[in-house]
Amino acid sequence: MTPVWHADALCAYAVKTGYALHEDWYAPATEPAHHAALKICKQCPVAQLCAAQGDYERHGIWGGRYREPDTHKDDPINHGTEAGAATHRRRGEKPCRPCLNASNQADNNRRKAVA
Ligand code: SF4
Ligand SMILES: [Zn+2]
Repeated sequence: MTPVWHADALCAYAVKTGYALHEDWYAPATEPAHHAALKICKQCPVAQLCAAQGDYERHGIWGGRYREPDTHKDDPINHGTEAGAATHRRRGEKPCRPCLNASNQADNNRRKAVA
């Protein structure tokens, strides 16, 4: 269901009138589009409600606040486990040796299970 405040969202109006693109609210912070979007948020009458919604979102500008794409950079790593290996990969790292071993072991077990 669409919250009622969306009707007053300035971004929606800006997109509808061709003044901005929906993607602008998801542009990297280094891009001009990002700053253009922030400017629109500053004038938006429902920015507070939008910011509250943003607390549940993992990416994009909400109420003038930018949430970086979810990089899982702060996830703790449970080393020596398959989940640990997955966390390493989400962070863009190579799994450490104990994590890699656990991950390979789990793969092998699954293969054995289906064989
Ligand atoms: S605060 Fe920004 S993102 Fe939120 S509704 Fe207003 S213009 Fe859109
Ligand atoms: Zn590890």
